[in-house]
Amino acid sequence: MFQKILIANRGEIALRVLRACKELGIQTVVVHSTADSDAMHVRLADESVCIGPPPSRESYLNIHQIVAACEITGADAVHPGYGFLSENAKFADILAAHNITFIGPSGDHIRIMGDKIEAKRTAKRLGIPVVPGSDGAISDDKEAKRVAAEIGYPVIIKASAGGGGRGMKVAHTEADLEVALQTAKSEAGAAFGDDAVYIEKYLEKPRHIEVQVFGDGAGRGVHFGERDCSLQRRHQKVWEEANSPALNAEERSRIGDICARAIADLGYSGAGTIEFLYENGEFYFIEMNTRLQVEHPVTEAITGIDLVHEQIRVASGGGLSVRQEDIKFNGHAIECRINAEDPRTFAPSPGTITHFHTPGGLGIRVDSGVYSGYKIPPYYDSLIGKLIVHGRNRVECMMRLRRALDEFVVDGIKTTLPLFRDLVGNPDIANGDYDIHWLEKYLAKGE
Ligand code: ADP
Repeated sequence: MFQKILIANRGEIALRVLRACKELGIQTVVVHSTADSDAMHVRLADESVCIGPPPSRESYLNIHQIVAACEITGADAVHPGYGFLSENAKFADILAAHNITFIGPSGDHIRIMGDKIEAKRTAKRLGIPVVPGSDGAISDDKEAKRVAAEIGYPVIIKASAGGGGRGMKVAHTEADLEVALQTAKSEAGAAFGDDAVYIEKYLEKPRHIEVQVFGDGAGRGVHFGERDCSLQRRHQKVWEEANSPALNAEERSRIGDICARAIADLGYSGAGTIEFLYENGEFYFIEMNTRLQVEHPVTEAITGIDLVHEQIRVASGGGLSVRQEDIKFNGHAIECRINAEDPRTFAPSPGTITHFHTPGGLGIRVDSGVYSGYKIPPYYDSLIGKLIVHGRNRVECMMRLRRALDEFVVDGIKTTLPLFRDLVGNPDIANGDYDIHWLEKYLAKGE
């Protein structure tokens, strides 16, 4: 087991990882920018190292400084959290070259999944169902038209290097295709320095369903069921739940088994999420994330398994603590992402939190790095906390969520709490009847 882990992140996820390390009796080091000297993860860690000024590029993304912090403190492993360097293959390689363990998959696996064309090709080879589309990058209009005619309109053009929903364009007819292709290419070139794009069938009313997987690096793979993350705004997840209200037990184990087998065949190590669009009973792979996800606590709530403990065990060579048959799904869990944003316009709302009171009681978990008197710096993303609620079934979970949202107090700044108070009372949400466009349409109506 590791002696000392350096946590290369901030906010709620830094605290989340810190807690797991403490439980396992591992010493902790955190790094932070000058804007985060008062952050909770800095206060609670055994050691902290200031690695630079507020902009992420100069601190949380500064590989040089982070490796130096490991050398100075004698950390033998790094947990990257999510975002920042968590899916940076070069970072994983550099740590390996310094004999520091990256708590995550190999640089090569990160690289494969970071390139969407390569990821899709790999998924297909491993027997994972994919969205019908071009075999690889599209080189010209002629090829685009041929592929689009074959799979049928509407189609979506996506950037191979894509992320955050950028570089994606939908074409409803052949007349739209040329423009869509050109726009997607130039957006991708500008955003990612790589203008390779591919085409796939555009699914009109899918749900976003993702499978949590783990590989032990020694050829074994397991799945921890799925999460439904269909409630999105601008391709950003807002509300996540496990299990998906749309799947039955047979579908769950069918897609779960396919994913677990793929992870085993890949020789993958650590946590991963295989993301699908789901429509009319069919799953279509869209991408794989090679890290811990923001929404992992809903899976923890229904399985009772600490996924960060598992990540640390696997990375240290101790293997997984569970076999597939040990993983049971109990009840239902929902996570609300609470952002420091105006609940109507979604404009960021940094500033000082004058009062912070979290709900409690059975089935309630709040993961947050903020506290009363904390000043939210304007440099980073606006997530200030996650409310995770568990119940014996979805109805009980929703009742508890409504109660917990009423109890939650965040004064001094605007937050997205009012949005969740609206959602929890909405009949479609109560029925679990929503697709990936539901939230945008609901917000556009401005009810
Ligand atoms: P990114 O990495 O940029 O987030 P993804 O491939 O994960 O890109 O897709 C992001 C979102 O775009 C999906 O959650 C979905 O809303 C939409 N999307 C992607 N591919 C398709 C498709 N083939 N049909 C319909 N919507 C899609």
